[in-house]
Amino acid sequence: MSGILVVAEHRNRALANVSYQVLSKGRQLADQAQMELLAVVAGSDVDAYAKELAGWADRVLAVKSDRLEGLLAEPCQKIIAHLIRKIKPKITLMGHSSFAMDMAPSLSVELGIPLATDCIDIFWQNGDILVTRSIYNSKVNATYSFAQSETVLITGRVGEFSVEEGGRQGQIEEIEFDFEEESDYKKFEGYLEAEAGGVDITQAEVLVSVGRGIKDKKNLEMVEELARVLGGVVSCSRPVVDYGWLPSERQVGLSGKTVQPKLYLGLGISGAFQHVVGMKGASIIVAINKDAKAPIFSVANYGIVDDLLKVVPALVNKISELKGKTE
Ligand SMILES: Cc1cc2nc3c(=O)[nH]c(=O)nc-3n(C[C@H](O)[C@H](O)[C@H](O)COP(=O)(O)OP(=O)(O)OC[C@H]3O[C@@H](n4cnc5c(N)ncnc54)[C@H](O)[C@@H]3O)c2cc1C
Repeated sequence: MSGILVVAEHRNRALANVSYQVLSKGRQLADQAQMELLAVVAGSDVDAYAKELAGWADRVLAVKSDRLEGLLAEPCQKIIAHLIRKIKPKITLMGHSSFAMDMAPSLSVELGIPLATDCIDIFWQNGDILVTRSIYNSKVNATYSFAQSETVLITGRVGEFSVEEGGRQGQIEEIEFDFEEESDYKKFEGYLEAEAGGVDITQAEVLVSVGRGIKDKKNLEMVEELARVLGGVVSCSRPVVDYGWLPSERQVGLSGKTVQPKLYLGLGISGAFQHVVGMKGASIIVAINKDAKAPIFSVANYGIVDDLLKVVPALVNKISELKGKTE
């Protein structure tokens, strides 16, 4: 029985969020096709990751070696290529992270197998695997099938697949791997911490996102206050970064980050597709815009058509009042 192999990533002693996303998608695809879901994790110390992955996968292949510190693409490629040749999974799935961007094309060439990158959907049709990719700056979604191949490689867009509960108790297998030759032209030196005070908007459950409609940097203060009372963080559209009002790590969208918060408030954001592509996966979207025809309202669950400079202080007051009553 050929299965689905998910390549898990880790950084700074934690599994990457995208690994949970592709694991959840892999679980769904494996269940639909009644296949086995395998996860592979490689590193210098992988026991804790393997236990975690066993919550989703039927089998976890744990490859431990000092050569794997820092999860460099080259040694990992050797391992994954070896496993694909041995197991012949129908699909090998990984997140479209910088690690996968480094490794997947080279792996595809080494094995001579098809690769589809940055996929926003993966599904079965009449027993074949199909993928959807967003093309022409996300103006068009295109569905692709693969050329005849026993096994294919797919990378899934970060933030595109929701994380489902695992609830499994898969088996863990430790795998010995013999690196025949050294590939020492690249060496892991260490991780650089994000700047002090840096915020990872992809991890936030509540995002209060501002656009050009905020008009002036000084108005960010009231937006920060709204984020504070909601227990969230401030993100933004691209013009706000271009004006230098917020750092680029706060930008949501095509050239920024893809986010999936529980609540996304868009304040003075028109809803250009380059922005929407990064936030449409939020569970609840609330838009505040003085233009009733702004495209953001077509993706919003709730909308307020008014001046945000009036609405934001009113919201801060109301939320503070309601919280005061419950505290
Ligand atoms: C290759 C490429 C990549 C891009 N990547 C990104 C990206 O990653 N992220 C991104 O965001 N953009 C990106 N863009 C830019 C994108 O096309 C839009 O220009 C941008 O998203 C618009 O930002 P905005 O909605 O804040 O501003 P605008 O489009 O100018 O909209 C401002 C909105 O605020 C409203 N408004 C004004 N005053 C008020 C007020 N007082 N109260 C309430 N509402 C008010 C207006 O009605 C308007 O709808 C990219 C563009 C290109 C070409």
